[in-house]
Amino acid sequence: MSEHGQKTDVVIVGGGVIGLSIAYALSREGVPVTLLDRGRFGQEASWAGAGIISPGSERPTRSPVSQLRTLSARLHEEWAVALREETGIDNGYRRTGGVDVALEERDEHDLEAASGRWREEGIAFERLRPEEFSRVEPALGPEIRLAYFLPDRAQIRNPRHLRALAEACKNRGVILHEHAPALGFGISGERVDSVLTAAGPISCARVVLAAGAWSGQLMRDLGVSVATRPVRGQIVLLAPGATRLRRIVEHGKNYLVPRDDGRILIGSTEEDVGFDRETTPQAIAGLHELAARLCPALRDAPIERSWAGLRPGSIDTRPYLGLAPGHTNLFVATGHQRAGLQLSTGTAALMADLLMDRNPSINLSSFRVDRGADPSEDSFRS
Ligand SMILES: Cc1cc2nc3c(=O)[nH]c(=O)nc-3n(C[C@H](O)[C@H](O)[C@H](O)COP(=O)(O)OP(=O)(O)OC[C@H]3O[C@@H](n4cnc5c(N)ncnc54)[C@H](O)[C@@H]3O)c2cc1C
Repeated sequence: MSEHGQKTDVVIVGGGVIGLSIAYALSREGVPVTLLDRGRFGQEASWAGAGIISPGSERPTRSPVSQLRTLSARLHEEWAVALREETGIDNGYRRTGGVDVALEERDEHDLEAASGRWREEGIAFERLRPEEFSRVEPALGPEIRLAYFLPDRAQIRNPRHLRALAEACKNRGVILHEHAPALGFGISGERVDSVLTAAGPISCARVVLAAGAWSGQLMRDLGVSVATRPVRGQIVLLAPGATRLRRIVEHGKNYLVPRDDGRILIGSTEEDVGFDRETTPQAIAGLHELAARLCPALRDAPIERSWAGLRPGSIDTRPYLGLAPGHTNLFVATGHQRAGLQLSTGTAALMADLLMDRNPSINLSSFRVDRGADPSEDSFRS
């Protein structure tokens, strides 16, 4: 029993998409969970993101990144249905398909290399020459030399997805505390006995740290290093206008995401500026300019809003999933950087396995908190 007077088994610190998804997965298995956020649920990186979901593989390689992406893609499809049934909220999961485009010769080489991987893994794709663009995405501009169509690339409306997760957690009895920062941990030996809050300690059997870019700070007091540097991403929302995009358009790490209502997101920067969530006029203008190169009809489209979020970085872009070194009941689930929305469902399933003492379906050694950096794989690209 916690000092809050409620019985809980697992306390999750951080109610972004990762914490909410883990709470949802555990609550579906009847585990008593308390979820804390220092602000409101789902208002940080998870709200700010674009919501692109990369396709899973028919034949995932042995790479854990490929396996986690594939598990997550499958679960997104299932969760969208389950969340709608449980809450009445449509999270906007749509398999709109995507086109990955080349503006320069170098981009063409990158896409050729990626297509080799897609072929090997059984990810559906089609190579398009400029005369074929109009069949798939008529808005692509004349500067584009080559495009690859990935019909299974999908998206969610992350603010709706977060609302649906919070609602489903509430319906399933998860104890939800907003404006309740975790201040530290009550420790005895290698165990965490409680999570410390301004309202008193919350006793629990297990703790999950899912505090996004702030996770590293919370772990420092325990002498555990979890490198979650904030990686700022700025993003622009175009008001609905005459130009309709049909597909997600990706150029390297930049993209356009069309929403059902005609709005289009242009993302995003990757900046190392600490905990600064401001936007800058240069970055916003740069994103708008890129959108106009990709789709010239967007040159005069009015900007409705722009914002920035702080992605939780990691040493090699892959998340940290597993026990905190030196602790037997303190788990970490963070560092998803550019792919936290995409990988949230699979992350939740794997963390539920760990928390319920089951063997996770994917070997988690390359996501270990104390691993050395391995920059050879990027979890975001399909
Ligand atoms: C512009 C942009 C575009 C993106 N696009 C995509 C995309 O298309 N696809 C994709 O998969 N990913 C995308 N991402 C990345 C994705 O948004 C992140 O990887 C993901 O949201 C991380 O989720 P999180 O729950 O770990 O972190 P957050 O959403 O930041 O949640 C962490 C939570 O912990 C809380 N917290 C912090 N400290 C404490 C404390 N002491 N006590 C209690 N609570 C605390 C915070 O208040 C916060 O709510 C994008 C990100 C940005 C910024």
